[in-house]
This record gives sequence, C-alpha cells and structure tokens, in this order.
Amino acid sequence: MSISMIRKTDNGQRPFIPYARQWIDEEDIAAVVEVLRSDWLTTGPKIAEFEEAVAQFVGAKYAVAVNSGTAALHAAMYAIDIGPGDEVILPPMTFVATANAVVFQGGTPVFADVNPDTLLIDPNEVESKITPRTKAIVAVDYAGQPCDYDSLQAIARKHGLILIADACHALGAEYKGKRVGTLADLTVFSFHPVKHITTGEGGMITTDDAELAERMRLFRHHGITRDPKRFSPLTSPPASPERAGSRWRAGDLRPLTSDFSWYYEMLDMGYNYRLTDFQCALGISQLPKLPEFLRRRKAIAHCYDNAFVSMPEVSPLAVRKEVSHAYHLYVTKLKVEQLNADRGQIFSSMRAEGIGVNVHYIPVHLHPYYRRCFNTKPGDCPVAERAYEYIISLPIFPAMSQKNIDDAITATTKVMQHFRYGG
Ligand SMILES: *Cc1c(COP(=O)(O)O)cnc(C)c1O
Repeated sequence: MSISMIRKTDNGQRPFIPYARQWIDEEDIAAVVEVLRSDWLTTGPKIAEFEEAVAQFVGAKYAVAVNSGTAALHAAMYAIDIGPGDEVILPPMTFVATANAVVFQGGTPVFADVNPDTLLIDPNEVESKITPRTKAIVAVDYAGQPCDYDSLQAIARKHGLILIADACHALGAEYKGKRVGTLADLTVFSFHPVKHITTGEGGMITTDDAELAERMRLFRHHGITRDPKRFSPLTSPPASPERAGSRWRAGDLRPLTSDFSWYYEMLDMGYNYRLTDFQCALGISQLPKLPEFLRRRKAIAHCYDNAFVSMPEVSPLAVRKEVSHAYHLYVTKLKVEQLNADRGQIFSSMRAEGIGVNVHYIPVHLHPYYRRCFNTKPGDCPVAERAYEYIISLPIFPAMSQKNIDDAITATTKVMQHFRYGG
C-alpha cells in the first residue's frame, strides 16, 4: 500500500480510508501504453481477447464487452426483446441502473422485496409478482453473494421467464461450486474502478446463447452488421431470371459484386456502447490478479467478522453455506434500537474518524423518478425499506493494509462505545 493510496481528510490531519478503490500496478500501465502506441485504439484485437479471457474465467461460451455495466444491462434487456408492456421483476436493494435498463427499453420494472438476512431478492416475493406480462427476472448478487439461483431458475422455468444476473458485485463469486457467469441466461458485469477488476468504465455480458450474444454485438454498434449472412431480405437483389448476371442498378442497396467492403446494413436501433482496446488491455492485465484480489477481500471480511462477534450493535449480513462470496461490499446492519443514535449519526462519526463508510442502497423504488413514473411508494418493499435505515458499508478493497483494517475496526469500536446506551 503506497502513501498515495491514502487521501487526506479535509483538515489534512487524518488519513481517510475510502470504501473502495482500484488497484493498478506498473504491469497494467504498461499494457495500456502498449495499445496506445499500436494501430488500434478501438474495434481492434484486444476486444475479442478480453471477451475470451472473461468467458473462459467464468466458464461461459460467449462474452460481449461494452463500455459500462449499465450498457451491459441495457444490451441484455435489448437481447431478450424487452419492450413496452413487458414487466421485469427485480429487487429494490440495488444500484438504480438495474431498473433503469428496463425503462431504457420501454419496459416496466416490478420490485420484489429482499430476504432480511442477506438482502438478496426473495424467490417467494418474485413468484408473487408474476403476471401474464412478466418476461424476465433480474437477480442482483448484492454485495458479492450469489442469489438463490436454484429457486430462481425453477421459477423462471415454471413460468417461461428469462433469468438475468446483475453480477456487477460478483465477478469470481460461486454458487454450489459454479462461478457466477453461467447461472442465468445472461450475466452482467461492471468494470468500474470500485468493482473487482477495472477498465476505467466498462462492462461485459456472458451467455451460452449464440443468438443472444450476436444481438448484443449488433446493439453495441448502432445495430449495424457487415456480415452478409445477416443482411436483410429487404435489400436482397431480385432473384428474377432477367436480373441473372446483370449489373447493379439504381434502387439496389446491396452490391452485386463480391467486394462488400464498404457495405453495411443497420438492421435495428443500436448505440455506440463499444469498449476501447486500451481499456480491454487494462482488463486483460487485471483479470489474472482477480484470484488474489478475491483472496484479500475475503481476508478483510474475515477480520471484520471476527471483530464484530464481540460487538452486539454490529451485525454482518448472513452468508449462505452454498456460496463463495466475492465481497464487493462489506455490509453490516446496525442494531439501532441498542444505540443512542441513528444510522446518519453513526455515518458522520465514522467519517469523522477517517473511515469512508457508505450506504448501499437507497431502495430504488423510493427514488422520485420511480414514484412519479411508476407509481411506486413506501410500503411496497418493507424489508428493503427497513434495511435501508440501518445498513452501513465498511471499507473493503484489495489494497487495504492491515493498518487500514485495524483502523476501521478501532473506529467502529469507538463509535459504538460512544453511542451505546449508558456508555
Ligand atoms: C456498478 C453497478 C451497475 C452499473 O455499472 P456501471 O459500470 O457503473 O455502469 C449496475 N448494477 C449494479 C448492482 C452495480 O453495482
């Protein structure tokens, strides 16, 4: 851990430990610089190389790189053809992008409440929200813990729904010995700097379905294809005998010659969601370090878990036996009823101690946009709403030193003692 990792607080007195941050080394920098000196800054060979590396890591057949996790969610919603009238069930305990991606496509997000112990989407709640309009379920592997995929898959199969995993917190996590990335029809990852590996901004979707992968490749590039096999029947030259061997003529769109190199067709509406080659080079360089990053995240979580055994006001989220947790976040529930303070006061006190605590998340259905446009309201998801009042995320990132971890625990002890009744 270098000195530059530690930012100063406003008064410049105390080091400030952020809740998350990237870990970039000289090898990563060299990999990016090499691409900057090459011919291809974008749409070059690093894209497929990064996609293959991620596909192989998670054990999926295909991976499609895009320029953010949000774009990856949008591409997934496009691939499964979400449109007006379609409902997609998802949890409120997530980043807004999970629900927004449904809205981008004109669909309706339907919020299903979470389990109080894990804050993961509750399969029973999912089933209770299914209507004839339901098309898909999004499982969010909150904090890095995989959802109950066996139950969610069974529900999806029973009702003919598509299962999408928002695994932006869970690269490298496992469920019953299987890596996240193959547990749903489509799995979405983010490479934002706070996530497990980074490309600055970036995202990826993994799937075993060739057709869905192909649709997402089209979508990230304006809906454009240069593949003659995908050209539309609308533009195929007339096959009538009098045209046989004839030359291209006005009104024909597609060239008759074999040289198609200028020609492309826009088959559907798409976006520029491409990831650059130098970003992919960073991702390729980061990926082999992921096992070590995960090992460190688990070790930090273990230190916190041990410390909080003797701190009755702090209760870490439950971790189920059948998972390997990726610990994107370390979330604890504060037993506010045992404290002479609310979460806001605890938050401020921890920040004043130089500990970059955070709150993940404000339940999405309570944001003004969703209340205004989808008529959601307090009471829709009581478990998530209640949890929002007492959750707090402690710093966790692979470059944290033992001193950082000890400082975070010492600060937590001090703040809890301060606010303990009679303390
Ligand atoms: C980070 C994140 C996203 C969005 O990813 P970006 O790369 O920031 O666009 C979506 N869902 C969840 C759960 C996330 O944590």
